[in-house]
Amino acid sequence: MTPTKVWLSSPHMGGEELNYVHEAFDTNWVAPLGPNVDAFEKAIEQELGKEVHVAALSSGTAAIHLGLELLGVGPGDEVLCQSFTFSASANPILYLGAHPVFVDSEEDTWNMSPTLLREAIEDRIKHHRKPKAIIAVHLYGMPYKIEEIRSIADAFEIPILEDSAEALGSSFRGISCGTFGDVGILSFNGNKIITTSGGGALVTKNKALRDKAVFLATQARDDAPHYQHSHVGYNYRMSNVLAGIGRGQMEVLTKRVAARRKNYDFYLNSLSSQTELSFLPEPKDFFSNRWLSCILTTCYDMRETLRMALLEQNIESRPLWKPLHLQPVFKDSKHFMDGTSKALFEKGLCLPSGSNLSQEELDRVVETIKNVLS
Ligand SMILES: *Cc1c(COP(=O)(O)O)cnc(C)c1O
Repeated sequence: MTPTKVWLSSPHMGGEELNYVHEAFDTNWVAPLGPNVDAFEKAIEQELGKEVHVAALSSGTAAIHLGLELLGVGPGDEVLCQSFTFSASANPILYLGAHPVFVDSEEDTWNMSPTLLREAIEDRIKHHRKPKAIIAVHLYGMPYKIEEIRSIADAFEIPILEDSAEALGSSFRGISCGTFGDVGILSFNGNKIITTSGGGALVTKNKALRDKAVFLATQARDDAPHYQHSHVGYNYRMSNVLAGIGRGQMEVLTKRVAARRKNYDFYLNSLSSQTELSFLPEPKDFFSNRWLSCILTTCYDMRETLRMALLEQNIESRPLWKPLHLQPVFKDSKHFMDGTSKALFEKGLCLPSGSNLSQEELDRVVETIKNVLS
């Protein structure tokens, strides 16, 4: 008999979600606007603090697309992007006819290397191709080097698009991730720390920018009684039905973060005597939501042996993100590398990390890993 499936990261409802969804039906707000959308945006603004304005959208990818457009990215431009991330961080660069330039990671947070970022900017300026934006990512919920990246961005006057898709609930010096970019984005896809089944948000301190995002996300209708358009628009707004799920999820976000961090601590404590394995600690002042708990093995073969052994026990695990400069779809892109993300990809594995995992399931994961390594 196959043991029951242990998922990498599955949706975890809090209980109130259906009430808000019912409310949408009862009031017939079954549309991409309405009270749930407004309340969901308010709840996110309150969570993030820092006088931010939020636009709820249909996905995190849509938010990146709109965010880059708002930052002035257009055809032929170059955009710097962390290579160690999910492809959705960079795909919108191509939607806009712009070119990604990939930057490798550093080892303290696994995110964009400030040294290589500076190198990349100086190189592109030398070639008269000053980048239009920097896409920095808080991968697996760990904040990137906020101060270093910001000071380089400011020195060269290049705006930051902060990809916080994996980092709702994370912070640096007590300040929430999502608020550090000129534009920040969140994702509520099904596997994220909270979900609306599919959805995203754009975050900015600039109210006019937020309003422009909503304008573009709702087909860019000019102020006229008929349908009048002077811009290319998108259909990117969040459904009021799905925002109902989001309202319920925001009520339990703190619990979800605590549960994911507890998973990480459990793996760390249970596997600390395994000398072949290592973990990514939080640097001082960094707070990660530990969206996914990741381990590093010593080599590709060990990572694969572990992954296959887990699979045999019907336990889902996943290699760390394959760096984008190594992806076929981005093979012609410029990149500034020192090998860090490639090594992480080869040696790293994401373990089951859902906030709804039972102790029995967590024990199964640890037992399987220990059996392989003993
Ligand atoms: C999930 C994710 C996205 C895209 O969000 P969607 O809501 O799935 O479109 C973007 N960047 C990163 C790093 C992600 O993990």
